[in-house]
Amino acid sequence: MLEVPFVDLKRQHAYLREDIRRAIDNICEQSDFVLGKAVAEFETLFATFCGARYCVAVNSGTSALIIALRAMGIGPGDEVVVPSHTFFATAAAVVCVGATPIFVDIGENSYALDLADAEKKITKNTKAIIPVHLYGQIVPMAPVMHFARQHNLQVLEDACQAHGATQNGKAPGSWGIAVFSFYPGKNLGAYGEGGAIVTNDEKIVELARALRDHGSYKKYVHTMIGYNMRMEGIQGAVLNVKMQHLTHWNELRNQHAAYYREHLRGVGDITTEAIEPGNFSSFHLFVIQTMHRDNLQAFLKQRGVNTGIHYPIPIHRQEAVRKNGCKRGDLPRTEAVCERILSLPMFPELIREELDYVIQNIKMFYEVTR
Ligand SMILES: *Cc1c(COP(=O)(O)O)cnc(C)c1O
Repeated sequence: MLEVPFVDLKRQHAYLREDIRRAIDNICEQSDFVLGKAVAEFETLFATFCGARYCVAVNSGTSALIIALRAMGIGPGDEVVVPSHTFFATAAAVVCVGATPIFVDIGENSYALDLADAEKKITKNTKAIIPVHLYGQIVPMAPVMHFARQHNLQVLEDACQAHGATQNGKAPGSWGIAVFSFYPGKNLGAYGEGGAIVTNDEKIVELARALRDHGSYKKYVHTMIGYNMRMEGIQGAVLNVKMQHLTHWNELRNQHAAYYREHLRGVGDITTEAIEPGNFSSFHLFVIQTMHRDNLQAFLKQRGVNTGIHYPIPIHRQEAVRKNGCKRGDLPRTEAVCERILSLPMFPELIREELDYVIQNIKMFYEVTR
């Protein structure tokens, strides 16, 4: 039996070890522990990678969301449209700045937020919309931008799973303000926590830089209440090393995804994610759907294949936001997919033998349960 991990960061470290050690050692020698040269260098590299003018490095994706919302002027009394089918942080950040998340469903046969549902739910207090580029695929942005213009909404892209994803050649940050996470398991992962805000908007950048540093433009002069959300030097140094590999890693993820799609076509009741024309997905996750999800997951686990569910409980059904007034059944498509989605092993260093083993065991599941 083969043991196939869901993600394995150790494999990556094995070939990056020397470069990473040198980079971290350098930070220690310089005592450049908070922000500093390596972080500034990373900001330039990552902004260029996104084809944007600016990047502000912070200490997590959640922090990036909070700072971006604050810089956009979102606060108490404001409403923000968010999908319920996303990682919890997307909505939590809205609550953290004192605003109210308006949960919307996903589209039919799509994981992107549904603008028709948003149209029904917005009010005069709705100030922003957060399209989440879930699993690595960019939400169709032309309709989002049209909707935002029509209703006078600001646009914040949650690109925490979409490093390197493009739509018609454009990267996150080309439309709205984009936020990224460098949590270790993301496509670009730090050796600890990390995040960034990417934008072409100079005013947002100035505010974001101050907000990550206690609302200060000048040392010991505090213009507003901010946070301690600066990126650490060591994380910047690690990310600089990893930036050299990101494009290649995303290509490998795409190859694995193509292989899964080819070999899972017509297997049982499995459907794979449709990729919209013009989109290049970063394939942070490879997600299938089946009516037999729980049984398939248990079957695979018994055979050493580790999978995940992203995410099992939609945010509008979470206890923490219960007072939002959403009931079971309010977001039918979101609630339905939560029972059917399964994330297969996906990381650049997966080998063919492992992909074959995963596919073979999925086929076996349908043979024995027929
Ligand atoms: C990971 C993630 C976040 C939060 O990032 P952290 O760095 O863990 O704070 C937010 N939104 C989405 C969609 C994510 O996947």
